[in-house]
Amino acid sequence: MKDRVKDRVIAIDGPSGSGKSTITKLLANELNFTYLDTGAMFRALAYKLDQLDIDFSGQALSNEDLMKARDFLESLDFQYAPSKDVLIKINGEDLSQKIREHHVSRLASQISKFPVVREYLAKIQKDAARERPSILEGRDIGTVIFPNAALKFFLTADNDVRARRRLKQLRAKGAGGDLSLEQIKKDIEKRDQEDSRRETAPLKKAEDAIVINTSALTIEETINQMIQAYKRRQELFK
Ligand code: C5P
Repeated sequence: MKDRVKDRVIAIDGPSGSGKSTITKLLANELNFTYLDTGAMFRALAYKLDQLDIDFSGQALSNEDLMKARDFLESLDFQYAPSKDVLIKINGEDLSQKIREHHVSRLASQISKFPVVREYLAKIQKDAARERPSILEGRDIGTVIFPNAALKFFLTADNDVRARRRLKQLRAKGAGGDLSLEQIKKDIEKRDQEDSRRETAPLKKAEDAIVINTSALTIEETINQMIQAYKRRQELFK
């Protein structure tokens, strides 16, 4: 049997609030891997696409809107991590903070179901991970972007825990003051539903992903489990 071609990539997928971002960042630091936050990429595009007159609320785009979106995407200067303090820039505008606003989560989920958007970012994600061993976090990294990733994780957590984490995150940034825990829980459940049910690249566990439910684990405990798994497969990254 032919050997599977391995990509020197760790794929981390899961719903929002599962601890993905915090954990991926720390793990990348620990292993000295490049860290790629693909959610931030969808958020940044959502922010820009929202300024156009395109209806993203349905299941499909009209031909006219599709052409508009395609032309717009082709014209963009999209920069991921152009410097130490800047995560995302589009056409020179630093979007690193703006993409964390609560309403952008919803917009990102809306635009991310369209193949024209996913194809655009898939190329950016694959190119960015080619240079060095990388950790990518998202929804479809282990299933669509890097199905041959050397190591895959699927992080989950109970809905209540996820909502509490999300609210804490927002409050820490001085945002979401008017939102209740119940409202946040409803929003993440709606987003999960949209992300899991869409036709293109839905949020889904890859068959060979290691599942970790982080509800009752500390960050350190979660990372330790991941490092153990990495050590068992370390030779695949060479
Ligand atoms: O991870 P984050 O919550 O920042 O992602 C925002 C939204 O972007 C998700 O709800 C999802 O709709 C979309 N997304 C995606 N595929 C990814 C990463 C994010 O569809 N790989």
